[in-house]
Amino acid sequence: MTTYRDVLQSGDPDIFECLIGEENRQREGLELIPSENYTYPEVLALLGSVFTNKYSEGYPGRRYYGGQEFTDKVERLARDRACTLFRADHANVQPLSGSPMNQAVYLGLLEPGDTILAMDLSHGGHLTHGAPVSHMGHLFNFVRYKTTGAQGAIDTDDVLRLAQEHRPKLVLCGYTSYPRDFDYAPFRAIADEVGAYAMADVSHVGGLIASGVLANPMDAGFDVMTTTTHKSLRGPRGGMILCKKDIAKKIDASVFPGLQGGPHMNAVAAIAVTLKLADTAAFRTYAKQTLTNAAILADTLLAQGAHLITGGTSNHMLVVNTHSWLNMDGTAAEKVLDRVGLTTNKQIIPDDPLPPLRPSAIRLGTPAVTTRGMTEEHMTEIGTVMATALTHAGEEKKLAALGDQVRHLADGFPVPGLAARDD
Ligand SMILES: *Cc1c(COP(=O)(O)O)cnc(C)c1O
Repeated sequence: MTTYRDVLQSGDPDIFECLIGEENRQREGLELIPSENYTYPEVLALLGSVFTNKYSEGYPGRRYYGGQEFTDKVERLARDRACTLFRADHANVQPLSGSPMNQAVYLGLLEPGDTILAMDLSHGGHLTHGAPVSHMGHLFNFVRYKTTGAQGAIDTDDVLRLAQEHRPKLVLCGYTSYPRDFDYAPFRAIADEVGAYAMADVSHVGGLIASGVLANPMDAGFDVMTTTTHKSLRGPRGGMILCKKDIAKKIDASVFPGLQGGPHMNAVAAIAVTLKLADTAAFRTYAKQTLTNAAILADTLLAQGAHLITGGTSNHMLVVNTHSWLNMDGTAAEKVLDRVGLTTNKQIIPDDPLPPLRPSAIRLGTPAVTTRGMTEEHMTEIGTVMATALTHAGEEKKLAALGDQVRHLADGFPVPGLAARDD
């Protein structure tokens, strides 16, 4: 039987070669970027399916095109599963990714010029939380709260003071680089105090919340919660908005026709199956192991003398200050680790003394290696390899040996959906 791959191989050998290269890169290296994961074979099957052919503007039962028998079913299942899993009244599963999902919330609930109180970007907030280089940063007035002290706590008295001073219309919790969990209840109270919406962007930790190992902002009465579907949830690239009943219409109208046209039904189908798989004992075990693995990786690095932002982790993520630890910036550290097959990313730290393209730290996470089946002992090995590589940065022979060790470790843990290398 001729497969899609066979057709690609003969139709466009250049791109086929890149696909094979990327497959081998993912097989042989270890993915430690906390926002990345290896998705399910079911998701890969649906993303490459004929659902990509279908236009489905509108919502189930109210579409602008015919032929929606199966797409309606798929989207209803995705929404229902999302509501059950996250204990929300309503779900919109159409955002094309994380950035449009947040834009849809801001544009649907606020007027241009309104104030949003959000986490400072160098303290962990995301680009879509009003970075000056983003369109949203121009359209809305973002005011910032920060973390405080060596433990990176958030002083909610200070957040309340900022809210009373600036009267935001929306109070936003959420992060892309913060190795701790949020206490959501005080943020709900602060939003109530000033008559603002309470919103959480849980893009990084959606899977950890779905499985109950981290707190769910919806349980604290938040109005709206957004999450990407491709990070700890392990699904296709996409975004989801969960919300209370009273703003459901505004959110839906904001996504379509406010911001987007036709949803990507291949991704919506893949989100539906991701949510089914997230509601299983196996996924809860996975989520728990992701946290355990992060804690062990942190302990291993601390034992090697590493400096960790906030002193450790209570989620899936670590931020290692290589500048204060080894006088090495995050860009140099990322490069050394790439050399040994450990993929990480450079990271700014709170009030970073170094510039954004050569910041002080690297960011690590365990969702992807945990998906491959790695446990405590492997985290100890990875942490030791990492510290050894960083402290022997210029020693090519040493790095080559560490690279071999990583490849050998990776060999024992196949990437889901990828056959073992056939050479
Ligand atoms: C990843 C992320 C996003 C954006 O997602 P994209 O799919 O890259 O657009 C938004 N918010 C947070 C907190 C994230 O971590």
